[in-house]
Amino acid sequence: MDYISTRGKAAALDFEGVTLAGLASDGGLYVPRSWPKFTQAEIAAMAGLSYVDLAVKIMAPYVAGSLTEQELHGLCEAAYGRFSHKAVTPLVQLDQSNWLLELFHGPTLAFKDVALQLLGHLFERFLSNRDTHLTIVGATSGDTGSAAIDAVAGREKVDIFMLHPDGRVSDVQRRQMTTVLAPNVHNIAIDGSFDDAQAMVKRMFGDPDFAGRFTLSAVNSINWARLMAQIVYYFAAALQLGAPHRPVAFSVPTGNFGDVFAGYVASQMGLPIARLVVATNVNDILHRALSAGDYSAGSVTPTAAPSMDIQVSSNFERLLFDLEGRDGALTAARMQGFEASKAMQLTPAMRTGAEGIFASASVDPEEMGIAMRRAWDDAGQVLDPHTAIGLGAAHRLQDAGTLDRAIPCVTLATAHPSKFRDAVERATGLRPRLPTRVGDLFERAEKFDKLAGDYTTVRDYIAARAVPAKG
Ligand SMILES: *Cc1c(COP(=O)(O)O)cnc(C)c1O
Repeated sequence: MDYISTRGKAAALDFEGVTLAGLASDGGLYVPRSWPKFTQAEIAAMAGLSYVDLAVKIMAPYVAGSLTEQELHGLCEAAYGRFSHKAVTPLVQLDQSNWLLELFHGPTLAFKDVALQLLGHLFERFLSNRDTHLTIVGATSGDTGSAAIDAVAGREKVDIFMLHPDGRVSDVQRRQMTTVLAPNVHNIAIDGSFDDAQAMVKRMFGDPDFAGRFTLSAVNSINWARLMAQIVYYFAAALQLGAPHRPVAFSVPTGNFGDVFAGYVASQMGLPIARLVVATNVNDILHRALSAGDYSAGSVTPTAAPSMDIQVSSNFERLLFDLEGRDGALTAARMQGFEASKAMQLTPAMRTGAEGIFASASVDPEEMGIAMRRAWDDAGQVLDPHTAIGLGAAHRLQDAGTLDRAIPCVTLATAHPSKFRDAVERATGLRPRLPTRVGDLFERAEKFDKLAGDYTTVRDYIAARAVPAKG
């Protein structure tokens, strides 16, 4: 499989190349040249496979040319062997129409582990035959950082520099990053929002004084390998609910549009998905874009669901590229316009294309609390704030008739409730306990540096500590 940039200029790369590169050199994001398709018979034959065997079937076309199926199988076994549930992503029924897909059984209690545990192994595998030292630079609203750090801590030939917005991640999230003392892990708390941190990282990738000196890589969801790993659980859930003979809907708590884009890819590959609900909190740029064509960034309001406190969703560009007929020059012009003005209008054709599969809802704190209590009353399930926003959006669209109650709706449970236990306690009075697998998180020492939210300061801090490409 080869991969092209959404902005049409960067050279095509193979799977190994896109995994190590992250962002394309023209500022675009890599996507496969075409979507591999499965027939309905091929999908039907996937029923009953173990998670690892299913993962190999779904991902094999994407890694072709870079890994054999056997190698991929070994990496998936290593990655998913660390999950605390044998099913990896178990499905739980809430009521007649609603299910939860529990994606939080990995080491750091959020769905990011599903992709990042695999990515850690992919990095190791691809670096083993190269004379390269990788410098990962990332920004996190909390969960990506902890999952990425767990996935690469102590690995050879990799350093990770992770920026998080100071004081805007939960104490569990912060400690999951800052208590990892491996020398290749560098935590930086910056004065600013997640969007500020993400903008700095993007700028570093395009900064000739910086990017040229290191072999930079990305672990946020601009990295294709992450999205690829997330396609698998859409298939896993839908197969359990009767796909391909029966369509299934998904409600996805959304921030950077990575997780829900993986659902879009699953549908492009042939999985019969009736609807993908893009659930946002009050930071609702995606809801405005999908419901009114207005993709314009406001300022970020901090909420109880910090991983969704985002105004600029990187992966939306991948959808725009598809909606634009995969025209890189058009996408580049549109994105450059957006970067300059922070606003973009979707064309009627793009809106019609998106409406074919997406629906959206913005869920406020009150509705989030109602969804949490309803899951507890109906099914004895404690939800984290992100998941509750997903379920709240599903309820709203079912009440409005946008979602047919006869079609099973799977809300992605993106984090374990204990990761956000203060917010859960405020909304429900219940204080979720940390699973024993996180151990003595609150007794461990923390290591991180605080920096001003100033690009040059942060860049120079990293440049002074990273391993140059050629030494
Ligand atoms: C990252 C994250 C999200 C948002 O996912 P995107 O892929 O950025 O849309 C939602 N919930 C939780 C708990 C997360 O960690």
